[in-house]
Amino acid sequence: MARYTASACRICRRENLKMYLKGDRCYTDKCAIERRPYPPGQHGQGRVKFSGYGTQLREKQKVKRMYGLLESQFRGSFHRAAHAKGKTGETLLQLLELRLDNVVFRMGFADTRAEARQLVRHGHFTVNGKRVNIPSYEVKPGTVIEVAEKSRKMIRIAEALETVDRRGVPQWIELDKKGMKGTVKSVPNREDLTMPIQEQLIVELYSK
Ligand code: SF4
Repeated sequence: MARYTASACRICRRENLKMYLKGDRCYTDKCAIERRPYPPGQHGQGRVKFSGYGTQLREKQKVKRMYGLLESQFRGSFHRAAHAKGKTGETLLQLLELRLDNVVFRMGFADTRAEARQLVRHGHFTVNGKRVNIPSYEVKPGTVIEVAEKSRKMIRIAEALETVDRRGVPQWIELDKKGMKGTVKSVPNREDLTMPIQEQLIVELYSK
């Protein structure tokens, strides 16, 4: 399957936002955006002025890359949001948050969404007692996600859980660290999503 292979730090620098795509490194002074806070490339330090379309495009790229999705996957989520009840932008963010890979990341079983996706693909989690290895699986309120029995001794998962307090567990999730499981209590509210996202710009871009 196709995937985005450019450097994670390059993505942060392009969008001028710390997106925490590299786990531990993001919390050290090695963070690239802190050392070089300007867009990558030959003209990165030049004056950058975006048109209306450019601003909308950058916002879409930012959110898409934050969640590690390809264009077709992101557009698919947008279409679902556009056909659902409620505000399209908000519903889009909720759909992205409720992907299994993102929930695993939010619960602290992985340091990054990319790592969470790989762990899910390799079958290290159960959803309501059944093994699920589909990163895009949509989690519903009340769902219990647990580290599979055979994966409980994995150092990667244990180390990620140790540092989860650093970024915090959102209030729509209940984590049982010792039991290596978590419950999705509710659909996240817009206020629960603290990254600076202007979802309306994405709606405007796709509505052209
Ligand atoms: Fe982004 Fe800094 Fe983490 Fe690199 S180290 S992914 S620039 S937050």
